[in-house]
Amino acid sequence: MTTRRDFLATGGLVTAGMLVGSSLGATATDGPKAPKVTKAKGPREMPRDVTLLSMANGDGTETLGVKTDRGILDVRTACRLLGLAAPLTLDELLQGGDAAGLNRVIAAAGRSAKAKPAYLDESRIKFGRLFINPGKIVCVGLNYKRHAQEVKMALPRVPPLFSKFNNALAAHQCTIELPPREVAYKFDYETELLIVMGRRARNVTEAEALDYVAGYCTSNDFSARDLQLETPSVQWLIGKTLDKFAPIGPYFVSADRVGDPNNLKLETRVNGEVRQSWSTNDFIFNTQQMIAYISKHWTLEPGDIIFTGTPHGVILGYPKEKQVWLKAGDELVSSIEKLGDLHFRLG
Ligand code: MG
Repeated sequence: MTTRRDFLATGGLVTAGMLVGSSLGATATDGPKAPKVTKAKGPREMPRDVTLLSMANGDGTETLGVKTDRGILDVRTACRLLGLAAPLTLDELLQGGDAAGLNRVIAAAGRSAKAKPAYLDESRIKFGRLFINPGKIVCVGLNYKRHAQEVKMALPRVPPLFSKFNNALAAHQCTIELPPREVAYKFDYETELLIVMGRRARNVTEAEALDYVAGYCTSNDFSARDLQLETPSVQWLIGKTLDKFAPIGPYFVSADRVGDPNNLKLETRVNGEVRQSWSTNDFIFNTQQMIAYISKHWTLEPGDIIFTGTPHGVILGYPKEKQVWLKAGDELVSSIEKLGDLHFRLG
């Protein structure tokens, strides 16, 4: 049986993409033959010193872009022009561990005039999902002291965990189509730091936990409070994993470019108005503690992602008479220092 990963690894995605044309309008008759994409042969290697994004291509695929001084390097097009192989999605890069393959393409493109058409203007890119098929989406609730106070809940003794499903994953600049009012209407934002795992972690100590992190993203644990808290009792999952309730982006930034994840400023803006403005230095459980705790219970695999909780300022924390829930037409921005501004709107 051919798995999805085998399909990608044998170049199926590249070939399929070339038949119908890449985002540059190339066809199968242009340029060199389709590159062969192979699995990483060497030791697993995490991406370093890199900022990545996902591009939604005209043929329906979502493939990697690399932010460079010359513009965004379209990895799929660069592979084709240079006759090289590399992971074409972030899932593939992290799960396959072939950062060396990506680095070869980045270096070769920088040296070769042939790769010039693979550099795109970022303002013209349609963003795709950074993650499409991660093994696990783990979410930590109630992880900021002032947020726990505003929602009148006791500080947790251990990180409260829940999850989202892959249907919730969404791109920078997406529109979340809200369900009809009879399904839900108490929509709320939660800007969160997203941890992206780069190595298999099981029973890791706090001291070593950051060695297992590939990088970080800006994310929003978008929520329907009525589903989360009133159906008919508290059950977080149903209020957290409606379609596109997990926008992530615009970038994946490698851990070495971020430094200390426990001292990053976060902000949420709704139609230009600042609603959340705080720092991850208010974490109840810091990045190391979250990873150590989760890995005590189950294995975290490369490519798994962890939502880390949101600071105070959510609509749920407002006095009842001031709670005006989000609605279609609202424009949201989640910002995290060093990781970029995630834009999305409600439809
Ligand atoms: Mg949350």
